[in-house]
Amino acid sequence: MATIGRIHSVESCGTVDGPGVRFVVFMQGCPLRCQFCHNPDTWDTTKGTEYTPDQLMNEIIRYKSYMSFSGGGVTFTGGEPLLQADFILEMSKRCKAEGISVAIDTSGYVFSETVEKVLEYANLVLLDIKNFDPVVYNNVTGVELAPTLKFLDYTREKEINTWIRYVLVPGLTDNLEGVKGLAAHLENYPNITRIEVLPFHKMGEYKWQALGYEYKLFDTKEPDKKLLEEVKGIFRTSGIPLAN
Ligand code: SF4
Repeated sequence: MATIGRIHSVESCGTVDGPGVRFVVFMQGCPLRCQFCHNPDTWDTTKGTEYTPDQLMNEIIRYKSYMSFSGGGVTFTGGEPLLQADFILEMSKRCKAEGISVAIDTSGYVFSETVEKVLEYANLVLLDIKNFDPVVYNNVTGVELAPTLKFLDYTREKEINTWIRYVLVPGLTDNLEGVKGLAAHLENYPNITRIEVLPFHKMGEYKWQALGYEYKLFDTKEPDKKLLEEVKGIFRTSGIPLAN
């Protein structure tokens, strides 16, 4: 029987989750509970739409020419795509057979032998590191930081091209000592080719209300330019190219 994937939604022409034009697959389910999450509707593992690999591949393949012309590919995000590693593995094999590049957008929290196999097929990992201070990380996400740092080590060991993403939230992830610590830590990873600082935005706020979840960031504003530039400046000290 085919492995079934639970999918929240798909976006056929994404441009922000990896290079080029991307077919973005938002997988259902996430073990983290980030305070700033703008997709809390992906959390519940029992929701979403069931897809067979054939069904999803049929959709992906329609956009193959856009992806190849632009140097793009497929991005699996979520939620946490590696919660459904069997399905992602099957899809990654199929994409590879079609010559389609695969990116995995992950928090690095989930790891297993199947995840190792998925990473053999990944052309790019987008690793979201929510903070470098373990206490703040736990407060932001509800889980421990250590698995994510181990995941990062694994990407270096396997020489997987990796981009780091950092969501900047005033009053929550603007602890500059933590940012400095992270920037210094990343210098040790030659497989990291880009850092993206993503300014917090409130576009997902209404979803929290609709789902009946307690949203703690009602009064939090988007970061101003000064803070954004300061944090980017710290990351630049790592010598790794920054997006924008
Ligand atoms: S890892 Fe992503 S999807 Fe999961 S809670 Fe955090 S921001 Fe939301």
